Amino acid sequence: MSRFYLTTPIYYVNARPHLGHAYTTIVADAMARWHRLVGDETFFLTGTDEHGDKIAQAAAKAGVAPQAYADEISAAFRAAWRRLGITPDDFIRTTEPRHQAVVQGILQRLWDAGEIYLGRYGGHYCFGCERFYTEKEIVDGRCPDHRTPLTWIEEENYFFRMSKYQDWLVRYIGDHPDLIRPERYRNEILGFLRDPLQDLSISRPRRRLQWGIPLPFDDAYVTYVWFDALLNYVSALGYPDGERFRSFWPVAQHLIGKDILKPHAVYWPCMLKAAGIDVYRHLNVHGYWNIGGGKMSKSVGNVVEALALTGRYGNDAFRYFVMREMTFGLDADFSEEAFVGRLNADLANDLGNLVSRATTLIVNAGGIARVPPPGEAGDLEAEVRGAFDKARHELDAAMADFAFQRGLAAIWAWIARLNGYVDVTQPWALAKQPAQRARLEVVLYTLAESLRLLGIVLAPFVPDAAAKIRAALGQSGEPRLADAAWGRLAAGTPVQKLSGLFPRVVIGGDAVTGADAARVEIERSAPGPRRRKDGDASGGAAATAAAAAPGAPSAAPSGATSPTAGAASASGGSTSGAAGTAATSAPGSASRRAGEASGSPATVGIADFQKLDFRVAEVVAAEAVPKSKKLLKLTVSLGAEPRTVVAGIAEHYAPADLVGKKVVVVANLEPATLMGVPSQGMVLAGSTGDALAVVTLDRDLPPGAKVR
Ligand SMILES: [Zn+2]
Repeated sequence: MSRFYLTTPIYYVNARPHLGHAYTTIVADAMARWHRLVGDETFFLTGTDEHGDKIAQAAAKAGVAPQAYADEISAAFRAAWRRLGITPDDFIRTTEPRHQAVVQGILQRLWDAGEIYLGRYGGHYCFGCERFYTEKEIVDGRCPDHRTPLTWIEEENYFFRMSKYQDWLVRYIGDHPDLIRPERYRNEILGFLRDPLQDLSISRPRRRLQWGIPLPFDDAYVTYVWFDALLNYVSALGYPDGERFRSFWPVAQHLIGKDILKPHAVYWPCMLKAAGIDVYRHLNVHGYWNIGGGKMSKSVGNVVEALALTGRYGNDAFRYFVMREMTFGLDADFSEEAFVGRLNADLANDLGNLVSRATTLIVNAGGIARVPPPGEAGDLEAEVRGAFDKARHELDAAMADFAFQRGLAAIWAWIARLNGYVDVTQPWALAKQPAQRARLEVVLYTLAESLRLLGIVLAPFVPDAAAKIRAALGQSGEPRLADAAWGRLAAGTPVQKLSGLFPRVVIGGDAVTGADAARVEIERSAPGPRRRKDGDASGGAAATAAAAAPGAPSAAPSGATSPTAGAASASGGSTSGAAGTAATSAPGSASRRAGEASGSPATVGIADFQKLDFRVAEVVAAEAVPKSKKLLKLTVSLGAEPRTVVAGIAEHYAPADLVGKKVVVVANLEPATLMGVPSQGMVLAGSTGDALAVVTLDRDLPPGAKVR
């Protein structure tokens, strides 16, 4: 039996999960499911990275201990992955004793072997990146990533003799052409290694940073967060003596975004070499998602939250879109328009219609609702089979290369062939001719068997839909790729109709474009998932169209579509006062009720809309409201005038997440007192299902700027 070990990066707990994290974890999950389908003994690892300056700072700002802070965000990641149907075999946290013991053990060994020395270092340090920058990397005296000024820091630190491994690493990469893939990233690292490699500072003095793993040979220092974090890939396997380490490390593959290429492609192999551990098999590197032209990363605030989108469209559609849309290794653009386009064309139309047509035909033909005997296949059937074999072959090759988009394209080429087969054979016409009964059975068997095969090969990508397809074809148990061979479907197997696998989504109007659409959709609150659950495409479409129009009346606080309703309703009972204030003082609330009844949002005149004073506000302080699980007390600046706003978002944001953020508030809301705290205004947030996102700015504007 083959083995397969795949890791995601462990995510840094200074930010909640977003699209970038979700993408990495979804493709890892699909790959792990693929290998389980193949029958490989599979181990899929993810987790959280919990030490370092940024965590200590964020915890201090939030007024909690770093461990409590890390606990909270780590739990948010686990909850997000559960909701996305991610199936890791282990979830490691760097604050766990099992990890700390391995880090200290390896540090001691490297120290004993003379691989680590005490040196003096001065450099330009970015607290955001938690790293020093060389003169060459600095842009106008600032961090190239954060664009913030750097701080000159000079101190004694421990260094790992990484420079001595430079020649070895260049040779190793040369001898293992698929170590780093796709090739562009291998070339990037070889280019980087043309310059002299520096030794790596692996410590931080405790007087500056307490929050880390103490060096075993000098407890005046803690371990540099990267040196700590990278070792999770072996500590989770029980290095050095664990059975899992022996089984899985020889087949280790990492999956990362390109922003953390250098630590994984340079530091990590050198660390492994020095520690006497074999280098991993493959480092698989993907690009960025661009939203509105900007890079999606944890350091750049962005209102798009992956969970909000999956809440709206379901996990399968989200998984399919991100894997199909991004050519692995390259950057891709995210827009809800493209998302809905693929959902409608590929999932609702090509796949959903095929499944619906085929199962309905089988169930209706002769009223027996069972798979007919295979009969005598003709040329058309041979072609369908041949097309499946070709797709299977291409899928295998694509998955070996982490080329998800190629694999899915191959499956969809076959789906297109199947739809063509239905059109040409016209089984509904055959059903009307008793003399064509034998021919009808051949066609229906071919369709049934094709659906069974789809239920298997789609399982890693759209697991819920694939399970439904298998269930409709009477297939129980875990799918196995070995069963994806033609002709195994037994005649007489009961078949059930399966329609509405992926309900079509209608976005009205041409106002929905790119990043605006994604943003507006997420801000839209209330019955997002409705459309998916009950297939109410028309109601959903109307709401979507209205919300997508910039500055449209739907931004006014009606219960159905207001961003404010998101914040208020999420806060539950204790802030119903605020929600009530918003709703009753809202213009056009009577017509809103009429609108709700007909399933479309109400309209208000521009004059009514202009009564609401929306302003850009900078959050200068944030704290929990005592005895409330849901409320946060925010101090916001609207230019000259600071004020207190209570927001029902504590279940979605830690106070530290919000400090420094520019949000949008309704500035002329009647003051209200919530849990004893007076609130002057309301923060806008969008929500759908369990997800909530505060509305922030795409570009910087000064506090107090009018929003209209
Ligand atoms: Zn930086």
